[in-house]
Amino acid sequence: MAEKLLSLIIPVYYEEEVLMESYRRMDAAMQSTGHPYEIIYVNDGSRDGTMKQLRQLAKEHPDTVKVYSFSRNFGHQLAVTCGMDHAKGDALIIIDVDLQDPPELIPKMVAMWKDGADIVYGKRLKRKGETIFKKLTAKLYYRLLSSMSAYPIPLDTGDFRLLDRKVANVFLKMREQARFLRGMSAWMGFEAVPIEYVRDERAAGKTKYTLKKMIKLACDGIFNFSSKPLELPFGIGIGLGFLGVLGLITMIVLTAIFGSACPQWLWAAVGGTLLFALLFCFVGIQGMYLGRMYDELKDRPLYIVAESLNTDEKA
Ligand code: UDP
Ligand code: MG
Repeated sequence: MAEKLLSLIIPVYYEEEVLMESYRRMDAAMQSTGHPYEIIYVNDGSRDGTMKQLRQLAKEHPDTVKVYSFSRNFGHQLAVTCGMDHAKGDALIIIDVDLQDPPELIPKMVAMWKDGADIVYGKRLKRKGETIFKKLTAKLYYRLLSSMSAYPIPLDTGDFRLLDRKVANVFLKMREQARFLRGMSAWMGFEAVPIEYVRDERAAGKTKYTLKKMIKLACDGIFNFSSKPLELPFGIGIGLGFLGVLGLITMIVLTAIFGSACPQWLWAAVGGTLLFALLFCFVGIQGMYLGRMYDELKDRPLYIVAESLNTDEKA
């Protein structure tokens, strides 16, 4: 059987300071796997010297380096998606260009894939050289996300991961606009194995994930994978309704015993609570319809077959 091909996918955005050193380490890591490989760079609309360097790399290494360059900045998640769309490998590896995720782990990830893992995902034990703010928000966020998601999303993982071809093929079928790749990967299931590592500092340059981009990604993560925020008003409505009914019963009992002891405003307050309860319930019900419509719109595969025996399918 022919040697299995590996595809390394690297999104790049204003990275002229780190690109060349990054290439050397990535290429060395790919060589040490002993497999044939391709390195796919996706330039996400950089206007600095990044593209010049990519042209040079493509010229010097026509067999291994491939480059796609976007017309403008579409964002990290779409840059990775473009790389996956064009990758030809039997396994796809996604990695940031800035060397925060050590390329030297790649041979180990490949070994784990050969041992049967469909997904090998990087799990960050520690994050070096990042601000307290980033570390704290990341920690809180991953915990909030996993508590809201209907599928378990592993804590403290990024997009640094290896995907088997059959997993990548499912990705190719999921064309939703707002993409949160690590969540989509968790949604798919398959045999997913963590590889633990310490996240290094950036080799050079500054983070390209501005606060605005981080907030967008965080929202995509929560709203793409959970309809809970939409259903929340229903829960509030039920709670308020319970309070209102309890108040009403208490007042009826008190009135029956003490005559007209309850002041008018208290009746009005209980009436108001019950009306609000009704309103919240209806908003929540609308949310449930919206959530279902959103799920239909995403048009994800209904199910995913990981293996089939004695059938004609190849999966
Ligand atoms: N990146 C991208 N488009 C963007 C922002 C970032 O392609 O709009 C790339 C960037 O070049 C890097 C990766 O995505 O390879 C992760 O970005 P960064 O290291 O700045 O994020 P951080 O590690 O700070 O979260
Ligand atoms: Mg980084």
